[in-house]
Formats: sequence, C-alpha cells, structure tokens
Amino acid sequence: MVQVNGNYLKLKAGYLFPEIARRVKAFSEANPEAPIIRLGIGDVTEPLPQACRTAMKAAIDEMGTHAGFHGYGPEQGYPWLREAIAQHDFQARGCQVSAEEIFISDGSKCDSSNILDILGPDNRIAVTDPVYPVYVDSNVMAGRTGEADDAGRYGGLTYLPITAANGFSAEIPEQPVDLIYLCFPNNPTGAVASREQLQAWVDYARRHDALILFDAAYEAFIQDPELPHSIYEIEGARECAIEFRSFSKNAGFTGTRCALTVVPRGLLGTAANGEKVELWSLWNRRQCTKFNGVSYIVQRGAEAVYSAEGKSQVQGLIRFYMDNAAIIRRELSAAGLQVHGGEQAPYVWLKTPEGLDSWGFFDKLLNQAHVVGTPGSGFGAAGEGYFRLSAFNSRARVEEAMERVRAL
Ligand SMILES: *Cc1c(COP(=O)(O)O)cnc(C)c1O
Repeated sequence: MVQVNGNYLKLKAGYLFPEIARRVKAFSEANPEAPIIRLGIGDVTEPLPQACRTAMKAAIDEMGTHAGFHGYGPEQGYPWLREAIAQHDFQARGCQVSAEEIFISDGSKCDSSNILDILGPDNRIAVTDPVYPVYVDSNVMAGRTGEADDAGRYGGLTYLPITAANGFSAEIPEQPVDLIYLCFPNNPTGAVASREQLQAWVDYARRHDALILFDAAYEAFIQDPELPHSIYEIEGARECAIEFRSFSKNAGFTGTRCALTVVPRGLLGTAANGEKVELWSLWNRRQCTKFNGVSYIVQRGAEAVYSAEGKSQVQGLIRFYMDNAAIIRRELSAAGLQVHGGEQAPYVWLKTPEGLDSWGFFDKLLNQAHVVGTPGSGFGAAGEGYFRLSAFNSRARVEEAMERVRAL
C-alpha cells in the first residue's frame, strides 16, 4: 500500500490562484461579451529583451556544431555567468560576493523551497503576513508546521504582520526564531525595507544565530538610490543570510527560467551534535545530487542582461512597468482609494473600500469593471481588507482598467 506525504493534506484546499480562476471562469461563462482585463497573477507581459534573444540564438547555433556543443554543464552554473553576476549585481554595489558563492538555477520559486533540504526540521520559522505563499506551503509540505486554523494560519509558524499600522515593515519578533523569510521589494505589498530596517534584522539574526532567507526578486524595480538592493549591502549579512534572485521579473524570464541563490562562504549552521557546518557545502552537495543545471542557451541569455545593450533594455522594461504602476497609483488615489506600494515595486496594494473584504472587492471589481486583481487575504490573514493590482500588462489595458475603476 503506497502511503502519501500526509503533510500535503494539511495544505489549505482553496489555494488562491485556482479560486481566482474559478470565479473568473464562472463570470465569463455568464458574461461572454465582457472584456476582462487581468491585473492579477504576477507574470510579466513584455517580450524578451533583444540582447537576450540574440545571445540565445547564437548559443543555439553553437550547439549545432561539434566545437560548440555543450552537454551537461556545471550544476552550479557556468563560471562566466556567475562571474558576471558577482561583478554587476554585487561587487558594483560594494557587496563582497564572489562567483563561487553564486548558484545558478531555473527559478527562485524552487530555490526558496528547496533550501529547506539543507535545514533541520526543528527550526522555528518566521514569515511575514501577508506573504508570498511559496515560503509557507513549502514548509507545510516539508512537515515543518502543524495544521492550519480557520484563518489559514499554520501551527508552529511565527507570523509577522505587515500592515498600514506598522508601515508594512515586519517587526522583530518577541519569541526567538531561527529562520526568517524576508522579501523586499515585497510581493504582495510593494513595500521596501530601508537600510536601518534590514540592519535591525541582520543584528537580530547574528545575535540569535538565526538565518535570513532574503528574496530580492524585485530589486531591479527600486527607484530610490538610498534603498539597498541586496541584503549583503548590510554589515554582517554574510554571516546570517542567503539571498535569492531571479531573471524572471527584471528581464522577463518567467517563461525562459533562470535565477540564482547566493550562499556566502563561512555562513554556518549548527548540527545536532553542536558542530558548526558551512551551509555552502550542503547547498553545493544538494545541487550536485538533485539538479543538473540550467540550459547553456538560457545561461547565455541571462549573461546578456549584463551587456551594455542588455542593461539598457532591462532598464526600459522596468521603466515601462513602473510607469504602469504610477498610472495605477494615480488613478486609484483619484478614485478615493487608499494606495500603498507601486513606487519601488510593480505591485500596488490598496485598502478595500466601503467595508468590503478582499473577496468582496474582488467580486465587485470583476462584476462591475471586469478587472481581475488578487485578494489580499489570499496572501495571509493580515492581508484581509487589502487587494493587489499588478503593473504587468500593456499600457492600453492598464489605462482602460483604471478608467473602468474610476467609473465605479
Ligand atoms: C516572481 C517571484 C519570484 C521569481 O520566481 P522564479 O521561480 O524565479 O520565476 C521569486 N519570489 C517572489 C516573491 C516572486 O514574486
């Protein structure tokens, strides 16, 4: 008799995006003429940068020759890509990250889940609320939580509310935790963390021998030059943080797949016998055993992000989405709504009006404006009463959606 992983049965049945899809489907079946605009799921919409396409086409041609053929590459990624990332993303910002500390992968979603492989089962885990659901669900699947309560909070997790009341910055928990998931610029709230706020987290982690899992998937959207892009811009972070980055949102690689995880040398965890162990070695071992690398072609595409042409094309994409975000912010404010985020991130986080809850506002927007967004409550109990709109869409659709919202 085959046994299933019972932890999966703890997952909440009504997962956010399937429920959105169900409601949108029901609405469009009842109203086949209604022109729906989707500002919901966080996927990019603009085409791939020319520099990346050119590099990938050249790589395909190379692969068609005996001299240029590439079979399995290094599990950690090709040295030229790791070198380019270390230099442009980290050293150029004053972070001491070397190529050896960068592990190329096919996504931050999988890396931020897979990292649990190298961490013990008894760590006390803190997540923000609302939160990117992957951090929570991967812990549930790995058996690191208890059951969910009626509000959807899992036993054993420490939830750190991020709401307007605390300026969307998580407060340091009172009870000690070992593992802290932070995502800045934040999905879903669009909030950012200042240098001082991150320094407080790093100081906490060093004091408690804790580990910060820092998700910087949206760092390229930061506009304010004072804000840190990487946790390694913070003093002491090399001793207590792993950082996840992705080419998905900056260069539009959501369907192309390339990301990276930084594990600093000398970053230590503790074994059951009290011995200190380097996390780099464990992650390296994990990747070598369970992962066979990202396609040569895709890594050449990612490398092109760092060419002069690539950088300027990525800047163009960021500008485009951030202009969308500015339109969304402006129009929602003009409609009398209270808006947050959207200034350093492609997400606008709005307070639902007229006492509507998150799903109530979802239904109103869908039925009356034919606009699809994401209910804040789907990201956690403290997201109730909020709603996420994404800047990932064409200018025409964003403008049309905002006109309809204003007409409500
Ligand atoms: C989109 C996103 C990522 C990127 O995931 P990939 O698997 O690299 O596409 C990571 N973290 C957050 C919070 C995201 O929204």
